[in-house]
Amino acid sequence: MTDCIFCKIANGEIPSNKLFEDDDVLVFHDIHPVAPVHFLVVPKTHLTSLAQADDIHQALLGKLLLVGARCAHELGLAEGFRTIVNTGAGGGQTVFHLHVHVIGGPGLSPRIA
Ligand code: 5GP
Ligand code: ZN
Repeated sequence: MTDCIFCKIANGEIPSNKLFEDDDVLVFHDIHPVAPVHFLVVPKTHLTSLAQADDIHQALLGKLLLVGARCAHELGLAEGFRTIVNTGAGGGQTVFHLHVHVIGGPGLSPRIA
């Protein structure tokens, strides 16, 4: 996708503060953190949202969570962390390239609802 900000981050056109990268996924700090630790796990391939995911994405979806958990561990989030996937405008999504938010650190509210 030529006009997608996360595709541009994934292909290096736009810089990011990277935590992890392999052939399938990229992890980088959110530009507007809502918690002491806030990073995003994105697939390198463009996928608009969870609503567009299909059976062929099953392994990739699992990998996003596993990589997120590993990065949370590496950043010392031993007390725990929260994973969020906003889906569609009605779900609060603003960047239409699937991503998992991982947030944590002191001061995180204990519940979201
Ligand atoms: P959404 O609302 O779509 O679930 O989350 C999009 C997230 O992407 C927001 O938390 C926003 O701060 C983050 N974001 C938007 N543009 C950029 C950018 O250019 N670089 C980084 N690192 N994060 C971004
Ligand atoms: Zn994209």
